[in-house]
Formats: sequence, structure tokens, C-alpha cells
Amino acid sequence: MTFPSINGINVLKNTGPVKDPEVSPEGPRTTEPLPADIAARNEELVEKHAEKLYNASAQTILEWAAEHAPGKIAVTLSMENTVLAELASQFLPESDFLFLDTGYHFKETLEVARAVDQRYPQELVTALPLLSRPEQDSIYGKNLYLSNPTACCRMRKVEPLATSLSPYAGWITGLRRSDGPTRAQAPALSLDATGRLKISPIITWSLEETNEFIKANNLIDHPLTHQGYPSIGCETCTLPVAEGQDPRAGRWAGNAKTECGLHSS
Ligand code: SF4
Repeated sequence: MTFPSINGINVLKNTGPVKDPEVSPEGPRTTEPLPADIAARNEELVEKHAEKLYNASAQTILEWAAEHAPGKIAVTLSMENTVLAELASQFLPESDFLFLDTGYHFKETLEVARAVDQRYPQELVTALPLLSRPEQDSIYGKNLYLSNPTACCRMRKVEPLATSLSPYAGWITGLRRSDGPTRAQAPALSLDATGRLKISPIITWSLEETNEFIKANNLIDHPLTHQGYPSIGCETCTLPVAEGQDPRAGRWAGNAKTECGLHSS
């Protein structure tokens, strides 16, 4: 979307001057480089082990991470479900939990985050965007998630995650190949753009298997997953989907966007 410009500052109709959404606010936005020896070790590990872990079980992948990762691991939790929290508590007890609080979550998602913090011993690190919602509205124009969701996700998810990953040698994701076509070939183990290990222990799981695990282990449950939301992001950008529909079809519905950018590397 383009806006008229005055002295290099874009003007959004009826809401006054706004900053170009392609330019993020000043502040830390990137992951610090890894020490050279850890980066080299990560590269070796992926080269040697990625293929054999491609279809491995969650337990095998997490036990591998506990044995091989050359440093602390962050377990990213969207709170859509708490499977990774449970698995990490069993197989990766030295990890930290990491939650991106975009400021736009469903209240139920925040309640799940609080319950996870109480139930598991791991530290729950909450990553926040540089700007609050009102600050973002006033600097970039109201409801950036409508006019430029890619920029909104960059400032509220991608950059806070990048900043938060600095202390870690790698991170655990909840990616599943069954989530949709964009993830159908995703590896269980790879390097992210900064050379950190990106590890996806439930990569082979279906939604049904995920739900069975939640039930069998009496996990903290996100109530909206029983109300037509198999994939849950920010409240402003998530709609319920019909039975049998692509689980991610409700994310940024009506927009060509299908990914927030967290998994583009
Ligand atoms: S999902 Fe929507 S509200 Fe959340 S960060 Fe992305 S664009 Fe913004």
C-alpha cells in the first residue's frame, strides 16, 4: 500500500502523518552473532544429523538436542497448545520458554501463558515489541495489521523474537508439516539465518495426534481450539475455520499473507 508523502513522511488519510512502516522504530531488533566456535559446531551438527532426524520422533529429536546443542535452547510457545512445554519439561529441562506477546492476543492465549508459567519449572521469557499498541497506532497509523500486516508482524513478532534469541544456541518450534502447504517440506533440524539450531520436534505430527497427546497428558488446553480455531495467532488476524479446512486458513483470512515471517529462514 502506498500513501501520499510530505517531506519524506507518509500521510495516512484522516489520521495525520505516519512513519514509513518499512522502517522499524529505533532499538534492538536483531539477534547478536553467535561466537564463531558455536556457529561452526551448529553447522556441523546440521550437516551430520538433519537427514536422520527428518522423520524422527519428538522424543528422539529432543533427546538429541539435549545431548548435542552447544548452549542453552529456547522453546518458543505460541500457547495455541502446550505440547512443546510438556515435551521440553520431560526431555529438555534446561531450556527456557519463550512467548511473543504481540499485544494483540486473545485473552484466552494470555491465560494459557499464565497457566504454563505456573505449571512448569522453566523460566517463561516474554518478548515484547518495541512499541505498545497506542504507540504503534500513533507512529505508523491506526491498525497497521490491516494496512500492512507484514510490517506489523515484523515489528511485533519477527524482531522481538530475533532480539530474544541472542542468548541461545538454538530454538524449538512447534512447526508441523501437516499445518499446510507452506510447511509441507519443513525440516526437523536446520540452521536459522543467524546460524542457530532450529529444531522442530513435532514436525511429523498431525493435528489429530497433537490433540490426542494433549488429552492423554491432561495438558493445559486453549479453549478456542474447541471453537473452530485450530491455528491461533493474534485476535485481530485469526478467524475460525470450517471442519476439514486448511487449519491455517483463518490466519490473515482475505489477505495473501500466510506466514508471519518467523519461519521464513
Ligand atoms: S498477526 Fe496481525 S496483529 Fe499480530 S503481529 Fe501479525 S499483523 Fe500484527
